[in-house]
Amino acid sequence: MSCPPESTDICNKLEREFVHSGEVIASNLVLNTNIVVEVIYEPLGEDGEKLGGTTPTLMKFVSPQDQVKRLYPTALLKQLNTGIDFGEDADIKISINSDVEDDFWFPGDGDIEPTQVDVSLLSLHEMVHGLGFSSTWEFPPDRETFIIPRLNGDDDIDEDDPITFDGFYETVFDANLVHLEDPNNPNSAKRITDIAKSLNGFTPKGTNFPNVATLLDRFEESNQPNDAKLMLTHATTNQHWHLCLLVLLIHLYFDTSDQEFIFRTSINHFDQDTFINTADFLMVPTEEEGVTLQAHLQRTGNNPGGGIGPKLRSGLKTLGYTVNANPPMGSTSTLQKRRFTRRNNQRKSLIRF
Ligand SMILES: [Zn+2]
Repeated sequence: MSCPPESTDICNKLEREFVHSGEVIASNLVLNTNIVVEVIYEPLGEDGEKLGGTTPTLMKFVSPQDQVKRLYPTALLKQLNTGIDFGEDADIKISINSDVEDDFWFPGDGDIEPTQVDVSLLSLHEMVHGLGFSSTWEFPPDRETFIIPRLNGDDDIDEDDPITFDGFYETVFDANLVHLEDPNNPNSAKRITDIAKSLNGFTPKGTNFPNVATLLDRFEESNQPNDAKLMLTHATTNQHWHLCLLVLLIHLYFDTSDQEFIFRTSINHFDQDTFINTADFLMVPTEEEGVTLQAHLQRTGNNPGGGIGPKLRSGLKTLGYTVNANPPMGSTSTLQKRRFTRRNNQRKSLIRF
């Protein structure tokens, strides 16, 4: 944990909840390598919408199914036999918003207030984003008419520097997204990765550009931007998005009320209304105030998994994790705590939850 000295008490409570979330995850997944999580308690603004934000460490890796190079969370790659040396860096970096400290409720605090959120639910939700529930489809710099997967797979590009096009990189999560032309007909599913493939054909890999703006101008002049605009339309005007789990389709969330694409809120969550009252309540975009994780579990039938529902478990399996089909409650895994001394200040844009 990275924690300012004056917040030691609350950080100790936070750490306890994250350790517990780690135990829940370790009981749902079969993990053979430790996942390193860095939690940073820091101010993220007081607009009340941001409880926290998660940045999974991503690495390029060729998907075994179709031989397409995508961005994989190192938390997942560590579980596969890749031979990659991951070093000591954190696999998952999670910021928790210290500006909304009064809204946080911890198990053992007494009754939760109607305006408070349960940190045990928040921490488990953010950890799942870190495991790979994360898309890279977003607006490129200074453009608002189309969305693309991450340019060159690099989240730290200097836009003014010369750039060599290496591709638009989806995540392994994106590889499993489909769009249903007809919401009632699973056979109308179109794979989002096919759109990504089309976008990548706008110029050969290795093409040099003087800067990012010129690259994007050239892209907009090509035959591919219609697909990128179509993606934005898909993402803002209908709810026909699903995460494809072989035969199971998970209805994903899109906020169509304001028809606004919000990076890391759109696409990355289960649909709020469809799932909030089911065993898969965890990955909806907005945490319900005044409702604890335990209350969610009780009102949805006390399913095993400690908050990781059956569809979410299937989703993690689809990403490539080995899942425990019958998760026991309580884990025998050994968790190691360590204090981080280094702070990473390159925080990315944040999700609401
Ligand atoms: Zn979220």
